[in-house]
Amino acid sequence: MRDPTKSVHHPIADESEYASLSVPTHRASTIVFTDAQSYASRGQRDLDSYSYGLHGTPTQRVLEAQLTALEGGAKTVLLPSGQAAIAVIFLTVLGPDDHVLIPDTAYPPVPGFCRGFLEPRGIEWSVYAPGIGPEIENLIRPETKLIWTESPGSTTMEVEDIPAIAKVAKARGILSGIDNTWATPLLFKPLAHGIDFSMQALTKYPGGHSDLLMGSVTVADLDLRRRLRDTMRMLGLGVAPDAVSLVLRGLETMAVRLAHVGRVATEIAWDLEARGIGEVLFPALPSSPGHEFWARDFSGSSGLFSVVLPDAANARLDVALDGLKVFSIGASWGGTHSLIAPMSVENARQNAHPRNTRTILRVNIGLEDPEDLRADLNGFFEKLA
Ligand SMILES: *Cc1c(COP(=O)(O)O)cnc(C)c1O
Repeated sequence: MRDPTKSVHHPIADESEYASLSVPTHRASTIVFTDAQSYASRGQRDLDSYSYGLHGTPTQRVLEAQLTALEGGAKTVLLPSGQAAIAVIFLTVLGPDDHVLIPDTAYPPVPGFCRGFLEPRGIEWSVYAPGIGPEIENLIRPETKLIWTESPGSTTMEVEDIPAIAKVAKARGILSGIDNTWATPLLFKPLAHGIDFSMQALTKYPGGHSDLLMGSVTVADLDLRRRLRDTMRMLGLGVAPDAVSLVLRGLETMAVRLAHVGRVATEIAWDLEARGIGEVLFPALPSSPGHEFWARDFSGSSGLFSVVLPDAANARLDVALDGLKVFSIGASWGGTHSLIAPMSVENARQNAHPRNTRTILRVNIGLEDPEDLRADLNGFFEKLA
């Protein structure tokens, strides 16, 4: 072989005595085959095998298996974002004239997807109030094929009675799914409660460092995995190996990070509630909507909560936000940095509620020293008062 060929073809190094604690990052678009027959029959390969980079590398299989183990499922698929994971579930289950139920408290891009993408393609949707529980039965139509849940709900943090909803769905032969991003499978295991699709934004706690986007869906049924993978193949959806590596790294510390931010967020949320600064929405507080379901079904809290501000605070909000020193202003949460984001749910909600017209501060507790966080928050709320 001449030099240009030697430059292209890598020699094979002996790995027989090599062992590492980290998972190797396999980057590949092309997968090569040992002989003509294995190339010709590549279409028959198992979904866990390899045929094209888009459908996964060994790095990706490790993350899929690790999430499957945490969720207590059968298989996991990875998508380029949390929102893509939700969209793929909906597109897998729903066809023309079908109907989907979503909570009024769903992550706002979800009703956006229903209105802007599904509706023009003949798929119907309607919303339910998050506390509905078994009464969801009354909203089911003959065309209903999917009940979507999110618990706690985005921004307003209502915990749903997931076992009750899953039970109704099962009895009526309807598939159910959940956005479990707040809890992660460490704090709530949806499949054990009868949910069919357990989705999370790996962008948040699993990645854990605000430097990647990814989503996952775990199922207990191999046929659902096959259907999800069919949708992904047709839409050309896959994930980048380097981002997968970062999630694998993030996962190693997730339990310790979650335990810490859950404890600090609980202390701060109790304190803010006791000081009467505004309604504090956090599942661990007995006053928070759906607290009884959290206490029954969850094994702890993560580090995200909300504070509903009195109307009088709005005039001083920008000055207070601009004075923050430790907290940054930002929305995507679950990383090491503490964040505050002023939100309004008014345009996203269909059911009237007094807090819909208020400014709601969403607070993400990060890994900074809790005393620095308290001091920053004290200064912030003094400026608001
Ligand atoms: C962030 C988030 C998503 C979307 O995740 P992306 O990876 O940013 O698309 C979905 N659901 C919830 C509850 C989220 O907070």
